[in-house]
Amino acid sequence: MKAALVTRLPAPSLEIQSVGLPEPPLDGIEIAVEACGVCGTDLHILSGASYQPALPFVMGHEPVGLVTQGPEDLMGRRVVPSIFVGCGQCDACRAGDERLCVEGSLVTGVLGLWGGFAEKMWLHPSQPLVVPEGVSPLTAAALVDAGATAHHAARLALVREPQRVMVLGGGPVGFLTASILRFRGTDVTVAEPNALRRDALAALGYDTVNHLDEANTTRSDVVVDCSGVPEAFVAALDWLPTHGCCLIVGYSEIPVMNLAIVARKELTFRGVRSGRREDLMAVLELAQRQAIDVPSVTAWPLHDINAALLALKSGQVAGKAVITLT
Ligand SMILES: [Zn+2]
Ligand SMILES: [Zn+2]
Repeated sequence: MKAALVTRLPAPSLEIQSVGLPEPPLDGIEIAVEACGVCGTDLHILSGASYQPALPFVMGHEPVGLVTQGPEDLMGRRVVPSIFVGCGQCDACRAGDERLCVEGSLVTGVLGLWGGFAEKMWLHPSQPLVVPEGVSPLTAAALVDAGATAHHAARLALVREPQRVMVLGGGPVGFLTASILRFRGTDVTVAEPNALRRDALAALGYDTVNHLDEANTTRSDVVVDCSGVPEAFVAALDWLPTHGCCLIVGYSEIPVMNLAIVARKELTFRGVRSGRREDLMAVLELAQRQAIDVPSVTAWPLHDINAALLALKSGQVAGKAVITLT
């Protein structure tokens, strides 16, 4: 099969090669990949600053495809994976939440399991979810991780019964978080310095701000940080009200931070690691009902994947970057 391989880390680009599929997992389900979303995490892995999968490796943690080998009831069906595979034994796994496995999860296209930047791939039997009728492969690819993460973040934000939510970062996760919150009837503002992304949101009627100074005037009591930009996170702490809450979705690194403000305002931090299987199912259903806005998709064929990575890196993708395999 054709695949875009990571052959070393860090690496400036992926190598398109013909390779064999790895050995299948027990009761593995083979899919013919139709499309696969590209995520900021792919850039971080390539830069050597994130997960360190064994090489060579095929990234792509937002695949959608048709089942070509597996149980009878799934044959030919369009599926997406719930991307985490855990030990199956620990409390988290037994509660159906492999994301938080104490042994450390395997993650499709990120760590341990080859992903969707290839013509074919294996899924563990616990992974596939059937894509609802009417949801296109491109839309499904835009939701596998970004949509599940956004649904999880929005769910946690709504628990606080917020007056207004500030979403930092208008990339696919921030976009979808805002979209789900608006659908649930909550006021939301998105802070996004990239004009392409900000304009795409504004065109759909979302409140947006460019600079965090403007964000200061929106009186949000929950912040969802999808930006991974340390300055944005630190600035948000300044203007969050007493008992405000910050949901940390993006991974930023803050070398030194004075936590006095956190104590004085009794702020709450809560991390958000992707989404549960139920989040992915829920967001696919919302897309099927056209209840939420989905980011516009820009697609590249597999052999142009390095152009897609470059466009993403240089901020030229307004919505979601997706690789198509067929
Ligand atoms: Zn991702
Ligand atoms: Zn486990």
